Amino acid sequence: MIDNNTHLQFLFNIGEKKPNSIDNSSTICPFCNTKNLTDILDREDSIILLKNKYPTLDNTLQTVIIETDDCDGNMSTYSKQYMRKLIQFGVKHWLNMENNGEFKSVVFFKNHGPYSGGTIKHPHMQIVGLKNIDYKESLKDEFFEGTVIHESDGALINLSSKPRVGFTEFNIIITDMKHVDTMADYVQIAVHFILNNFSASCGSFNLFFYHWKDNFICKAIPRYVTSPLFVGYSIPQVSNRMDKVIEKMQQLYFNGEKPLGN
Ligand SMILES: [Zn+2]
Repeated sequence: MIDNNTHLQFLFNIGEKKPNSIDNSSTICPFCNTKNLTDILDREDSIILLKNKYPTLDNTLQTVIIETDDCDGNMSTYSKQYMRKLIQFGVKHWLNMENNGEFKSVVFFKNHGPYSGGTIKHPHMQIVGLKNIDYKESLKDEFFEGTVIHESDGALINLSSKPRVGFTEFNIIITDMKHVDTMADYVQIAVHFILNNFSASCGSFNLFFYHWKDNFICKAIPRYVTSPLFVGYSIPQVSNRMDKVIEKMQQLYFNGEKPLGN
């Protein structure tokens, strides 16, 4: 028997039809072909929110945000203004779905690169309303605790001291939506760091947004093959080079500034 309150049911009959432009570069990109898009819910310039054409998860509403009309673009190279506009747009729709009363909880996330779980290369994010599952039930405060790398204007970015899955997890935290632009700036810095300055081989990351207690949190995670110790035993790992990561980030993005008290 399937427990709908703990497990999402994946619909293989729909999954089989879904194009995969990460594994197969000859697949025509469905997000470039904007004339053929259907079920568009909102748009702002080249940012488009629409229903997922291949809703593979039962008891959900799956939506997609196409971030840009540039198929080869990526979040780390958007202008600061564009990145802010994108995150404002995404967060607005995420919270609207949360408030409409149809879902037990709503997840907002992004996959980028082959190890992220993504199947379409064109830059996009996803907002998924879950009818039966509350993602908050498995959260703990400690997933978002860490050493502060930088803080300004009601927002902070830290490096997890007790990561949820393992190694490096950046948390960007605000308590009031009026600071969402600073959140966007920090998210872009985390993504830029992961793709360019973290490890030569890291081309994959995820972003996960959480509405946790009075906080709005974005977790940015570089992705590799998941550790077997986590898959088999749920034992997360933490890096012994955290100080180096923090220092490098402070030097590269914050003029070497360290937050008070660190
Ligand atoms: Zn495309």
